[in-house]
Amino acid sequence: MRIGCPKEIKNHEYRVGLTPESAAELVSHGHEVVIEAGAGAGIGAQDDTYTAAGATIGSVEDVFACEIVVKVKEPQAAERKRLRPGQVLYTYLHLAPDAEQTADLVASGATCIAYETVTSPHGGLPLLKPMSQVAGRMSVQAGAHVLEKAQGGRGVLLGGVPGVAPGHVVIIGGGVVGRNAAAMAVGLGAEVVLLDRSNEVLEAIDAQFGGRVKTLYSTRTALESVLATADLVIGAVLIPGAAAPKLVTREMLKGMQKGAVIVDVAIDQGGCFETSHATTHADPTYVEEDIVHYCVANMPGGVARTSTYALNNATLPHLLRMADLGVVAALKADVHLLAGLNVAGGKITCAPVAEAQGLDY
Ligand code: NAD
Repeated sequence: MRIGCPKEIKNHEYRVGLTPESAAELVSHGHEVVIEAGAGAGIGAQDDTYTAAGATIGSVEDVFACEIVVKVKEPQAAERKRLRPGQVLYTYLHLAPDAEQTADLVASGATCIAYETVTSPHGGLPLLKPMSQVAGRMSVQAGAHVLEKAQGGRGVLLGGVPGVAPGHVVIIGGGVVGRNAAAMAVGLGAEVVLLDRSNEVLEAIDAQFGGRVKTLYSTRTALESVLATADLVIGAVLIPGAAAPKLVTREMLKGMQKGAVIVDVAIDQGGCFETSHATTHADPTYVEEDIVHYCVANMPGGVARTSTYALNNATLPHLLRMADLGVVAALKADVHLLAGLNVAGGKITCAPVAEAQGLDY
């Protein structure tokens, strides 16, 4: 099968759909891989690395002439015009709030598989998980940096030093982001408290960290009590399919230490702090009520190389099966990959997308 990978054209997107290693794997299975010239530059993978892996370097037209097109971000308008009936698009789509993209994909007749709705026999969303792992780990790194005086923070080193107490980290939400944030905060030597409203999650955190992370059932009172001494607060809650609950109000920020930092990872769902609004890697922070806010909506984009490799680890097995078996056979054989099918044959094939847009399914 011919598999194409274009250079991402969304503003400030440096990730790429296929690493050279993934291209080599596809080639070793007897498939042809076409990479758009310069597609891997953002992760430091030059064209000759792909050529050495057995791929061909081509134009965007060559890439979109392939049977399967592999990307990272949802296709932009210019890319959507290139899709044709029966062609397979494998990428993040996030169609529910995006009527224009949905209409274009339906009109294209292409078979569109969205990373974010592929499921797993073990539960969860395995092609979204790597980005939450990245954002969770990055949240502590970003927060530690912003805590420095020159960045507007209160001048606290999270790990402390012998004779000086470590910083206090509060993590709200103990899912994929929260667990990964906790691991990093513990690794830095901080004092860590994690709140969740699922007792199973709290038990799992307690077992994983052997008491090194203090767990609290998430109530307003519990939150207020830990915010008072927090240096860094990480917002990592998710209510699937809903906007993030505003768990920390403006009023509650007034009870916090001046120069403390919040990292609202849940900003892509609206954020869990009343005072949050989305920021960018170019201008990541702002101050409200003397608290420094870091609310970057696409944190994994900041570490494009790590994120691309993490994403490929999750996307490659399904891609190999589609290429080896044929896409229709692979979809029929795997209900979890089938859950990723959002648009096919000029129709929406994913119930939540159709419902979100009031369309027939
Ligand atoms: P997850 O489903 O694995 O975990 C969410 C957790 O929040 C669950 O354990 C749940 O019990 C908990 N929760 C729900 N309501 C709560 C409450 N009131 N108090 C405390 N905990 C509560 O989700 P995840 O993968 O960890 O993602 C978390 C958020 O991070 C999502 O909004 C996701 O979209 C976002 N995210 C953002 C970026 C970014 O770049 N900003 C990147 C990846 C993920």
